[in-house]
Amino acid sequence: MQSFNPPKRTLMGPGPSDVSTRVLEAMARPTIGHLDPAFQTLMDEIKELLRYAFKTENKLTFPVSAPGSAGMETCFANLVEHGDKVIVCVNGVFGTRMVENVTRCGGEAVVINDDWGTPVSLDKVDAALKANPDTKIVAFVAAETSTGVASDTKALCKLAHEYDCITIVDAVTSLGGSELDVDGWNIDAIYSGSQKCLSCPPGLSPVSFNERAIEKIKNRDKPVQSWFMDLNLVMGYWDGTGGRSYHHTAPVNAMYALHESLLILKEEGLENSWKRHTDMSAKLRQGFADMGIKYLVDEKYALPQLNTIIIPDHITDEAAIRTKLLNDHNLEIGAGLGALSGKVWRVGLMGHSACQANIDKCLTAFKAVMN
Ligand SMILES: *Cc1c(COP(=O)(O)O)cnc(C)c1O
Repeated sequence: MQSFNPPKRTLMGPGPSDVSTRVLEAMARPTIGHLDPAFQTLMDEIKELLRYAFKTENKLTFPVSAPGSAGMETCFANLVEHGDKVIVCVNGVFGTRMVENVTRCGGEAVVINDDWGTPVSLDKVDAALKANPDTKIVAFVAAETSTGVASDTKALCKLAHEYDCITIVDAVTSLGGSELDVDGWNIDAIYSGSQKCLSCPPGLSPVSFNERAIEKIKNRDKPVQSWFMDLNLVMGYWDGTGGRSYHHTAPVNAMYALHESLLILKEEGLENSWKRHTDMSAKLRQGFADMGIKYLVDEKYALPQLNTIIIPDHITDEAAIRTKLLNDHNLEIGAGLGALSGKVWRVGLMGHSACQANIDKCLTAFKAVMN
């Protein structure tokens, strides 16, 4: 056996996205202690940079030491109490996972289904809130990576607050890639991931909670069932006030990478990054259109960072095409998930991957393998 040397891929799937050498170099710097004062300075900067990326002043903003799914669990485990009624909007795979989270936390999920490939329907949420006045929480996915659909986060939060509900928003694919304004849109609890539009290696999940969410967590009857995710305990480590105490050993080098990727985002400018994703997506769309390839999602709701294309009828073995893209062109794209398995491909333009060179490479590779 020898040291592992990964093949050089171009990552245009639903994440992870291409990681720049700058971020990889940051990650390779010497490991220091997770309670070292120098590391605590880094933690403070990460929190500040995350507040910039999320557009929030929330004090409780930090990366959970685990992938996006753990950020999801952190939100549900802390906010859903036994017997809480939670409206969960399902328009793709990640919404179904939210339902699972609610149920496992002892909550009662009121599920609102929308067709996969369409956004969450405000009218249906409104009707459900009217029919269930005892609802405590409304949860939805801002950017459904399984379909490539953006829902109207701002409007959904406004609606939920009219019924005095707390909102939990999945922004794993949104952060850095498309418009997101935690404070401006009044999002109460939100989670994201490092490996999508932040172009950082996988394994960290930025989260943020506002005062309204914290209030609910503080007033819980019973402690959070998950010891690891209990925010009251995690905060002893991530909150600088009163000295930091050991909770778990933070993945130190992964934090170097996150810090660097957030710095890159700040240097580019958040709005510039959103615009780059939009511009690149338009170019990719044009390229696919020229090849006669159609999109699953109406352009109005389509995410720039995740382009879901319909597999043309004449392709009988879609997996073979993806294998060819990987083996002959070192290009990774995503397969369809769940109900869309075998029907679509998902082409990501996330973070560092949203560039002209990748688009050219992708279109050239598709032309070659489809012939
Ligand atoms: C990727 C993703 C997740 C899960 O993140 P992991 O890092 O894979 O655990 C959750 N929600 C959405 C919308 C995602 O795209």
